[in-house]
Amino acid sequence: MEGMEKVIYCKYYAKMCIKLVSHSIENPYRVFYYCPTPRSDGGHGWMEWVDGKPSSYSPNCKNRYINRRSDCDELEKLLEFTKEQLSLCESKLNLVEMRLQLDTSNLQNKLVNENMSVKCLSKWLRWVFFVRLFFVLLIWFFCGCDS
Ligand SMILES: [Zn+2]
Repeated sequence: MEGMEKVIYCKYYAKMCIKLVSHSIENPYRVFYYCPTPRSDGGHGWMEWVDGKPSSYSPNCKNRYINRRSDCDELEKLLEFTKEQLSLCESKLNLVEMRLQLDTSNLQNKLVNENMSVKCLSKWLRWVFFVRLFFVLLIWFFCGCDS
């Protein structure tokens, strides 16, 4: 079975157990299978040494160590995940800010253009009004005098 990975499933939750390395003084660098169900989800902290040999220290101490180790690993994973999510959110926020700035400058340009066209239109209307007034006065002057 050289090179083949043995897959161990937890008997309680039918989950694939993970392989961890012990860093305890009693069992340094000894590899073990560990049930990945977290304690907060009703996990039981089941473990088994990969080499199948019995543990060289008391199971209580071992379990406590493994639980703490696994909790720490889980928290580290969660921290990494949260950091990734945070950086994702930050980049999204930057994108939104950039878009907002672009929209704002576009709106400002539009507003300036609108203002200019409104000024132009009012000038033109005033001009038209005076020209019409001039013609009305002209007509009134020439035709009004006859009647
Ligand atoms: Zn389990």
